[in-house]
Amino acid sequence: MAEFTMELNDEQKEVRDWLHGFAADVIRPAAAEWDEREETPWPVIQEAAKVGIYSLDFYAQQYFDPTGLGIPMAMEELFWGDAGIALSIVGTGLAAVGVLANGTEEQIGTWIPQMYGDANDVKVAAFCSSEPDAGSDVASMRTRAVYDEAKDEWVLNGTKTWATNGGIANVHVVVAVVDADLGSKGHASFIVPSGTPGLSQGQKFKKHGIRASHTAEVVLEDVRIPGSCLLGGKEKLDERLARARERAKAGGGERVKNAAMATFEASRPAVGAMAVGTARAAYEVALDYAMTREQFGRPIIDNQGVAFQLADMRTSIDAARLLVWRASWMAVNGKQFTAAEGSMSKLFASETAKKVTGQAIQILGGNGYTREYPVERMHRDAAIYTIFEGTSEIQRLVIARTLSGMPIR
Ligand SMILES: Cc1cc2nc3c(=O)[nH]c(=O)nc-3n(C[C@H](O)[C@H](O)[C@H](O)COP(=O)(O)OP(=O)(O)OC[C@H]3O[C@@H](n4cnc5c(N)ncnc54)[C@H](O)[C@@H]3O)c2cc1C
Repeated sequence: MAEFTMELNDEQKEVRDWLHGFAADVIRPAAAEWDEREETPWPVIQEAAKVGIYSLDFYAQQYFDPTGLGIPMAMEELFWGDAGIALSIVGTGLAAVGVLANGTEEQIGTWIPQMYGDANDVKVAAFCSSEPDAGSDVASMRTRAVYDEAKDEWVLNGTKTWATNGGIANVHVVVAVVDADLGSKGHASFIVPSGTPGLSQGQKFKKHGIRASHTAEVVLEDVRIPGSCLLGGKEKLDERLARARERAKAGGGERVKNAAMATFEASRPAVGAMAVGTARAAYEVALDYAMTREQFGRPIIDNQGVAFQLADMRTSIDAARLLVWRASWMAVNGKQFTAAEGSMSKLFASETAKKVTGQAIQILGGNGYTREYPVERMHRDAAIYTIFEGTSEIQRLVIARTLSGMPIR
């Protein structure tokens, strides 16, 4: 087990500086354009693929860094560049994690390369779980997957919504109900390759922020996929469902629920790190502006009202990073989240990003409110962190339930 440390080693510093260079030289200069266009920034993803940032290898290397700091450090730097573009670069990772967590070795070897493509022909992937009536309440999902034994095929029907890269992905990972009586334990994940008849993009959403990231509905109408597209395989699914039915009969669903919760807990610090990146970006712009903008014959930072805001902003950002790094270190080193530390980090960092980007607008005054300066975009972008991967209210529920052991609603 690696000791918890706040000190990056030389190799990590090198990776951080390399990522920062890419974020500063390639992502940030493109941010305003792709925000306005509200389109996937394919050329930037391609650049990221060319230098090795858009690849499973890169994320695997960071993920297996025993200090736990690899992923948060990478997320912070990329999202410091721009949240919408960075999400377009890392969004495929959500689907890839779905395959890595549930797929067989053969499925991992077949589908992950197709999710990324290569530098000359980049592809993206989508993870489709949310539905119009099943956001926070995942158990009320309606998309059904029915097994056609005669043909060894699964037939999927339903509508997914808010899917990052939905409809433009080369590979969609779709979560569907296979046993409605088991709630979220009756769900399974499927690979739906692009071009499969019955798979289509529904509405593409026009969003408040992260507009360089494509978000859309995914419609599944009698989508037939081979049995081999069930992640993990039929045998494993049947065993898992049998266990869940036994537990449901014995009234012992909690253990399964806690295992699922542990998985989410482990992925949440990465979202916290994205929020830290956006908050830090806005803080830096605000600090620079406050030092140079003069009113009443002196820099505005000369007023405590402004300087104290910057002090608070930086303090919150550093505190958020500490929570994120602690949770990432715990996840990588198999430490139990006895106080929902993963949720804590996501909650605090996302709320910090929303607040700090708003304070940055205030410090820039009229300029902060215009698109001439990046902080209004950062503020719009920051609003997503308290919503996706579990809203702030859901994080508070998880933390409160973990602390109290009570079924708080
Ligand atoms: C830009 C974007 C990208 C996304 N990408 C993906 C993706 O790639 N794949 C995917 O599957 N999903 C994705 N999502 C969906 C996202 O995860 C959901 O929006 C999120 O889980 C919240 O669900 P909801 O929007 O249905 O809100 P709801 O669940 O309807 O919640 C509405 C409000 O009620 C509150 N609330 C709900 N239940 C409770 C409760 N029990 N206690 C207290 N408050 C509660 C919530 O906190 C929230 O404030 C994305 C969403 C967005 C906006």
